[in-house]
Amino acid sequence: LQTQPKALTALAKFSDPNWTAKGEARATVAFDGAKTLWFNTGTLCNIACAGCYIESTPHNNRLSYLTPADIAPFLDELAARGEQGAEIGFTGGEPFLNPHCCDLIAMALQRGHPVLVLTNAMRPMMRPRVQRDLADLIARFGARLTLRVSLDHPEASHHDTERGGGAFEEAAGGLDWLAAQGARLAIAGRLWGENEQPLRIQFAALFAQRGWPIDAHNPTQMVLFPEMSMQADPPEISTGCWGILGKRPGDVMCASSRMVVKRAEADQPAVLACTLIAYDERFELGATLAQADRPVALNHPHCATFCVLGGASCSAKAT
Ligand code: SF4
Ligand code: SF4
Repeated sequence: LQTQPKALTALAKFSDPNWTAKGEARATVAFDGAKTLWFNTGTLCNIACAGCYIESTPHNNRLSYLTPADIAPFLDELAARGEQGAEIGFTGGEPFLNPHCCDLIAMALQRGHPVLVLTNAMRPMMRPRVQRDLADLIARFGARLTLRVSLDHPEASHHDTERGGGAFEEAAGGLDWLAAQGARLAIAGRLWGENEQPLRIQFAALFAQRGWPIDAHNPTQMVLFPEMSMQADPPEISTGCWGILGKRPGDVMCASSRMVVKRAEADQPAVLACTLIAYDERFELGATLAQADRPVALNHPHCATFCVLGGASCSAKAT
C-alpha cells in the first residue's frame, strides 16, 4: 500500500511518483497496448529550430543512432503479441541523417506495420543514396508508408523564422520530390495563435499550387499543433484533476504509445513513456516492451503543460 509521506512540506513539486507536493494522490496513466511504437533514430539534426522540444541540433547526440539490431527485438516482441497492426513511428532529430534509416523503415514495413516517418524533407532526405532507397520503399509499400513533413506555416517567412533562412524552399523541394514519387504525405504545421480554418485554407492553396496530394482540411493529413510554451510554474496533476477537467487518462499519449531510444552512454536501447520526455530517466520504463507495460506517474511539468492542461495531444512533434 502507498503511504502518504509525513513531511509533506518537504516534498518538491513533481518529485514524488505517488504524491503531489500538496499531499494529493498523483495521477497515473495505465498502459492500454501500443497503438504507436516510436523509435527515436537519434537526436542529431541538420538544423536547430528555435522551438525544438527535444533540443536537436547538428551537435546534440545525446540519443544515438538506432541500428537494425537495436530495433529488431522490439519488432519481435510486437509480432509475438500479434500486434503487427500497431503503427511504427520514426522520429528524431532528423531520421534521414541516420545511415540506417531506410533499413529501419523497411524492417517495420516488411513485418506488416503501417509506418509514419517525421522528417523535415531537407538535405539529409535528398542525398542520392537515401532518395534511391526511399523511392524503392515508396514503390514497394505505397500507402502503408506515410512521410509527415514539418512545414510550420504556409508562408516561407514564418517557417524560416523558426528554421533558418531558405528552410521553407528546401523543404518544399523535398515535398515536390516525395509527391513525384507518389508518396503518401502529411504535413505538421503550427497554429501560431491564428484561427484554424483560415490557416487550413492558406495551406490548401499552397498544396494546390505545388501539386501536393494533401487534404488541408483532413486533420490526419494536416496536423496543426497549438503553441505549447512551458509555463514557469505549472500545477501538479492529482487523480482528482481528471474529473475536474473532464479528461480521461486513456486519451493521454502514454496510454497507447512508447518510444525506444538509445542514450549515448548506454549499451542497449531503453523504452520511454512517451516522445515528450527524452532525457529524464525517471520516465525510462525498461529494456523491453514487456517491462514498459506499466502505469506512468505524471510527475513531470510536461505532463501538466503539454498533456493534461494544454489541450494538445502528445503526438511527437520533432522534425
Ligand atoms: S508528457 Fe504526456 S505522454 Fe508523456 S508521460 Fe507525461 S502525460 Fe504521459
Ligand atoms: S524541430 Fe525537427 S527539424 Fe527542427 S531541430 Fe528539432 S528535430 Fe530538427
